[in-house]
Amino acid sequence: MFGSMMQQPLLVSSLLAHAERHHGEQEVVSRRVEGDIHRYTYRDMAARTRQLANGIAALGVPAGGRVATLAWNGYRHLELYYAVSGSGAVLHTLNPRLHPDQLVWIANHAEDEVLFFDLSFLPLVEAAAPRLRTVRSFVAMTDRAHLPTQSTLPGLLCYEDLLATQSDRFEWPVFDENTASSLCYTSGTTGNPKGALYSHRSTLLHTYASALPDALNCSARDTILPVVPMFHVNAWGLPYAACMVGAKLVLPGPFLDGRSLYELFEAEGVTLSAGVPTVWQGLLAHVDAHDLGFSTMRRTVIGGSACPPAMMRAFQERHDVTVLHAWGMTEISPIGTVCTLKPRQAALPAEERLAIQARQGRAVFGVDLKITGTDGKELPHDGRSAGELMVRGPWVISRYFKDDGGDPLVDGWFPTGDVATIDADGFMQITDRSKDVIKSGGEWISSIDLENIAMAHPDVAMAACIAARHPKWDERPLLVIVKKPGASLTREQLLASFEGRIARWWMPDDVVFVDAIPLGATGKMLKGVLRERFGEHLLS
Ligand code: ADP
Repeated sequence: MFGSMMQQPLLVSSLLAHAERHHGEQEVVSRRVEGDIHRYTYRDMAARTRQLANGIAALGVPAGGRVATLAWNGYRHLELYYAVSGSGAVLHTLNPRLHPDQLVWIANHAEDEVLFFDLSFLPLVEAAAPRLRTVRSFVAMTDRAHLPTQSTLPGLLCYEDLLATQSDRFEWPVFDENTASSLCYTSGTTGNPKGALYSHRSTLLHTYASALPDALNCSARDTILPVVPMFHVNAWGLPYAACMVGAKLVLPGPFLDGRSLYELFEAEGVTLSAGVPTVWQGLLAHVDAHDLGFSTMRRTVIGGSACPPAMMRAFQERHDVTVLHAWGMTEISPIGTVCTLKPRQAALPAEERLAIQARQGRAVFGVDLKITGTDGKELPHDGRSAGELMVRGPWVISRYFKDDGGDPLVDGWFPTGDVATIDADGFMQITDRSKDVIKSGGEWISSIDLENIAMAHPDVAMAACIAARHPKWDERPLLVIVKKPGASLTREQLLASFEGRIARWWMPDDVVFVDAIPLGATGKMLKGVLRERFGEHLLS
């Protein structure tokens, strides 16, 4: 017997309809590419989004057609999130930090029909345009006054003109909730990028789960500033969660340096933020250098790569901002685990709590986790056995876009390529990515553990630990360090800080000091590049 409840498909457009109807007065504040601050309400946003949906229809985008964006976090990008998916087309967020060749490859592979872009990316789009095989229309996300008079782009359109000519009446179509809503490519650190094609259903379920108190804990009383870009896994879902709960949303545009972010946090009363560790370094450096504090910020989500405990300590002890360590990936929409404490743990002394928070956390409802050994057998949740992390759930991909790479699943589970432990409380800890793991004499050494210790040294600005080839042990850990400005740290001083904190055989063999560590398109350290540069270091 079926239940007798209403059959309403879970659609992205319903999030905006809810925000307009029940939180119409709530603000969306954006720092524009032009540098000024723009503010309006969900009511205004909903009306403009309907105009945009009419504009997209006028461009002839069919249901399922891909509409690409190359844009920062801003209100026009937000309007595209809802107008494109809401009208049944697929929003394809391109990552402008990728190499232009890779961007072209991805846009052609996705068969993007229309490309919306922020003015900062005009040169990039002009250079790529001759190689974009499927894009029919280019739209600059600006007004007539800022539209360049000269451009090599054929028939360049102006976003505000596109809206101005359209009515703000538009009925959001109702369709199957399994319809594709948006598309995001993995950064392709291993081979060609592959597309994760999200559905309306997966997006809505992910939004519900991410807003829960033991996940990101979003509410109508929050002011949310996603530093994580809207071109990277939908800014971890925050543009959807904000509408679902009616939170104020603050979008920082391209200005992600410590000073600009801090000003926005304070001016707009931001309570919750989210980003990768590298971006918080700039913010903390600015705040500490000017002896500032956060007057409203209460929580910050840190993920994308491991959050060093030293960073958690800085936020929590110096600034009273709780760090929510989270783990996820493009293939899982992205949230898989969030580190919020259970009652027994919350009562522990600060040091022990910090040790738990250094883990990536426990599964949010909807995501199931397990770890398997090299023989594929499940390993115990004892906090010690490390194996490949496998996930499944309604917002985990079942295959890549266009079936690239064949069936990725193993017995119905998605192999993440991460190596992790899970303890008896269900707390998962990433010890490495399988390709970053250091295999010394057949045993694994966690590069993340060693980086965390290095990062705790007061003279270290950034630390990467890589596997360097070794004649006897095959691979040994090598530290690549960026010192803080003016610091006079030596190899011996740094290695002394590891004494007593790790097993003897984990001691890094050497330290190289560099001016900068290369970062990838999503702000993560490019360890592959470091391995190419320093992989033979111990052989010389
Ligand atoms: P890509 O795989 O293209 O780098 P993702 O942004 O999807 O892009 O990255 C997912 C990977 O990032 C995970 O598989 C994991 O290796 C890493 N990661 C994400 N969050 C964390 C975290 N909190 N701690 C350690 N690693 C993390």
